[in-house]
Amino acid sequence: MTMALSPDHDWRRRVIERAKELDHEHRRRTRGLWQLPLGLALSLRFLRTAARQLVTAPHRSEPRQVEHPRPGQIAVTFVGHATVMLTTPLARVLTDPFLGDFFLGLRRAEAACLHSADADDVNLILISHAHRDRLDLASLRRLAGRAAVLVPPRCACLVEGLGFARVIELAPGQRFEYADVEVTAVAARHEGARGPFDSAWRGACGYIVRSAGANVYFAGGTAYFSGFEEIGRRLHPDVALLPVAGYQPTALRAINMSPIDAVQAFTDLGAKLLVPVGHGSFPLGYEPLDEPLRWLRQICADRGISGQLAVLGHGETCLVRAGEVESTSGIAFVPPHC
Ligand SMILES: [Zn+2]
Repeated sequence: MTMALSPDHDWRRRVIERAKELDHEHRRRTRGLWQLPLGLALSLRFLRTAARQLVTAPHRSEPRQVEHPRPGQIAVTFVGHATVMLTTPLARVLTDPFLGDFFLGLRRAEAACLHSADADDVNLILISHAHRDRLDLASLRRLAGRAAVLVPPRCACLVEGLGFARVIELAPGQRFEYADVEVTAVAARHEGARGPFDSAWRGACGYIVRSAGANVYFAGGTAYFSGFEEIGRRLHPDVALLPVAGYQPTALRAINMSPIDAVQAFTDLGAKLLVPVGHGSFPLGYEPLDEPLRWLRQICADRGISGQLAVLGHGETCLVRAGEVESTSGIAFVPPHC
C-alpha cells in the first residue's frame, strides 16, 4: 500500500534535505582545513587578522552625499558592516548603525562611510537584534533626534532614553509606515545577548522596506532557515541585503550565514538583486576578511547569477527601480530580469 505524503510533510522533507546539502557543501569546501588541527589553525588565523588590524588604521573612503531619488526609485548605500542606508524620495532609512572604529577591542578594516548631512537626515532606524555590533549605543546617540527607531521585541528598553522621537517594537508580521515607505518585520534565526553573561531573551528580526522603487529585504543577522521561502512568497523582495560573514568555525552557522547559505537564501527568496553585507569590517568569525566576497563571487559565477550580485564598496550607492538597477558609483550592474 502506498501512502500519499501531505504537502506539509513534503515541504519539511525538502527543507531538511536542502539543509543537509548546504552542510555537505561546507564540508567539501573546508576539506583542506579539516586536515589540520582545525581549531588551532583557525584561531591563529583569527588572532593574526585581529592583531594586524590593531596596528593598521581603518581605510577611509570619502563619504558622498546621497540625494533623494526621483519618484519610483530607491537608492541603496552600503555604509559598512551591516549598516545600509535606503533613500527614497521622501525618507531615509538606516539599518543596524555602527559608525565607530572599534568593536569589543577589534579595530575595523574599513571605516563606516556616511556623509554627516545624510546622517542628520535619517528618519527611520531599523535594529535587527541586540548584539553589540548591531545595536550600538554610541552610534545611536550620534543619530538621536527626530528619527524613529524600530526594534525587535524586548529591545525597546535598550534604546529608550537615547533621545529618539519614537521607539517602536515590531514583532514579525507587524508593520510601520513612514512617508513613502512601509516596513514589515519578518522572522530571523538569531539571538540578542548583550554579552556572555546576559541571559535575557530578546527578539531578532529582519525587515522588508516597501516603497514605490522596490521592495528591499534587510535580513539582519540570521542563519539559513526555512523562513526565506515564505518571506519571498508573501512579501516579494526585489533586493536582498544578506549577511555573508562570521561562519567559521562551523558552529557559528547556527546563527550566521556563509556565502553558500546566502546564495541559497537568495534563491529561496526569489529576489532579483543580492547585496552582501556584514563583510570586510570586523573579523567576527575565523575566516579571513576577504574570504566571504571571494567565495560569494565564485558561487554566483558557478550558478550563472553573477549579474544579480551587487557588491557595493563602503560608501557606494546603487539606484534601484523595481526590476532594474543602475549604478551611481561607477560599478556596472547588469539589470536583473523581472
Ligand atoms: Zn548578531
